Amino acid sequence: MGKLTSSIPRSPLNSLLLHALDMDHYFVNTHAQPNGDHEVHKVGCYYMPSDRKYLGQFPTCAGAVLEARKHYAQVNGCKHCAKDCHTQ
Ligand SMILES: [Zn+2]
Repeated sequence: MGKLTSSIPRSPLNSLLLHALDMDHYFVNTHAQPNGDHEVHKVGCYYMPSDRKYLGQFPTCAGAVLEARKHYAQVNGCKHCAKDCHTQ
């Protein structure tokens, strides 16, 4: 365990290039959920709210959540399209 993964060099530049090819548009719901969360959605999400603010293009939902936090104190990733950023 661990030997295989630790032998693969992880280049920040390589992952940056890979991510640059895979940027998605993100939006944040301008209306808070009942629990106060402003949900971040990726373009094309079935649950995309009609009242939304464009955040920009990000390689992962994490960047979009950070951007959304500039506008709203309480932000959460959508459970469906940004589940890596979704917290309960
Ligand atoms: Zn969503």
